[in-house]
Amino acid sequence: MVEKVDVVVVGLGPGGEAAATELAKAGLSVIGIESRLIGGECPYYGCIPSKMMVRAANALAEAGRVSLLAGEVDITTDFAPVAKRIRDEATDNWNDQVAVDRFKQAGGRFIRGTAVVTGPKTVSVGDLEIEAGTAIVLNTGTNPAVPPIPGLAGTPFWTNREAIAVPEAPSSLIVLGGGAIGLEMAQAFARFGTNVHVLEALERLMPLEEPESSQLVADVLTSEGLGIHTGTAARNVSYESNTFTVTSDDETFSADHLLVATGRRSDFAGLGLATVGIDTTSRTLDTDANLQIADGVYAIGDITGKGAFTHMSMYQARIVANHILGKQGPAAEYHAVPRVTFTDPEVGSVGLTEQQARDQGIAVAVAISHIPESSRGWLHKAGNEGLIKLVADTDKGILVGATSIGPAGGEVLSMLTLAVHERTPVNRLREMIYAYPTFHRAVEDALGRLP
Ligand SMILES: Cc1cc2nc3c(=O)[nH]c(=O)nc-3n(C[C@H](O)[C@H](O)[C@H](O)COP(=O)(O)OP(=O)(O)OC[C@H]3O[C@@H](n4cnc5c(N)ncnc54)[C@H](O)[C@@H]3O)c2cc1C
Repeated sequence: MVEKVDVVVVGLGPGGEAAATELAKAGLSVIGIESRLIGGECPYYGCIPSKMMVRAANALAEAGRVSLLAGEVDITTDFAPVAKRIRDEATDNWNDQVAVDRFKQAGGRFIRGTAVVTGPKTVSVGDLEIEAGTAIVLNTGTNPAVPPIPGLAGTPFWTNREAIAVPEAPSSLIVLGGGAIGLEMAQAFARFGTNVHVLEALERLMPLEEPESSQLVADVLTSEGLGIHTGTAARNVSYESNTFTVTSDDETFSADHLLVATGRRSDFAGLGLATVGIDTTSRTLDTDANLQIADGVYAIGDITGKGAFTHMSMYQARIVANHILGKQGPAAEYHAVPRVTFTDPEVGSVGLTEQQARDQGIAVAVAISHIPESSRGWLHKAGNEGLIKLVADTDKGILVGATSIGPAGGEVLSMLTLAVHERTPVNRLREMIYAYPTFHRAVEDALGRLP
């Protein structure tokens, strides 16, 4: 059976859902196909529930700081309210009926199933063949990558999907991977009393961020009692008597649970992308300025390799929907991609790191200011760790990258994102008035240190 529609959207992550909904509302016939839950990783296993954990864990940390500022509080941790919030408020017990109804009300037709691209205009799902008159939009996202460590397969390890659904914090946890996902959960669980060890094979945490960010976060986590082991590759995993044992070259770690947070992967072969001329061994898809990977075949989100973030997925969805609807709109640009790791302190960054800028041959100047030395940081006292790092292109007199770490690092990032996005001259940024005493005044201090 062949069904003809204008657009087929395969995978309804945040961007796929947004694009499918907008196209349906615009009057196109749209089929949206989702194998798991409409909304994708973010609302059910990612951003939202993990930030509920972080929010609760940060409340505990703030309570712990009272003794340094305002007397004493007795803290008894209880993970049950977090688990309940994740189940009831974030995920509806991992049920997407609300999203399904919303999409149908927008005029879309929803199919639950795993779709395969069978040609430049065709998709199959189950017994159904669909012909897309106008476009195929792919938003199939990523799955947790499980490294081929001897002994790991077959053990009851967690990925983010299991960790996010636990009813209580484990008593001990080994986290494989020192990136954003691993660190956010490591710190959150540790604040609920879990004994946590983080193993990162590379020489520093958050290897995609500035080295100063890696060091600061490692120092904070270590001071909070987490074991941070960089340059430590897991060589073997075993699971016996409800205990995981992970061995590296020279150490052995044991814990009740093991969280694998070593990256994400896509399956382009399984998605059938060879039928539209794609090299299915590549890790990400090459897109043109309108997000097409082939004529009339669009890609959105993690699979484009432009940043595995919900805001990227939504941004690209807007561009794809505009292009399909023939609306004028700016093409995709990626010089000011913001990202935030929601540890405490938050690590926000935008654009290029110093090393990336140097690798591009840019004439680089950098400047750093430290939050504890700013008025706000000094008076904030407990929990004031952070810094601002600016990466400037001295030929052009603009910022090409920036990092903002601090108690509100992700919020302070907004002005730096605007500066990098708009290519605002550094001199113009220096002329601005910065409210006193805010965390973002540390940006002014760093600007003053640029040559
Ligand atoms: C623990 C965690 C925390 C995170 N925190 C943040 C954060 O704070 N901020 C942030 O911006 N990002 C965060 N992310 C990343 C964010 O979740 C993703 O970048 C976001 O979901 C966008 O992904 P996507 O659009 O590529 O699609 P996804 O969300 O991955 O969704 C893709 C969907 O496609 C479906 N699918 C796949 N193949 C098929 C097929 N063949 N047929 C039908 N359906 C298919 C999948 O079932 C899935 O639902 C986090 C991720 C994790 C894991």
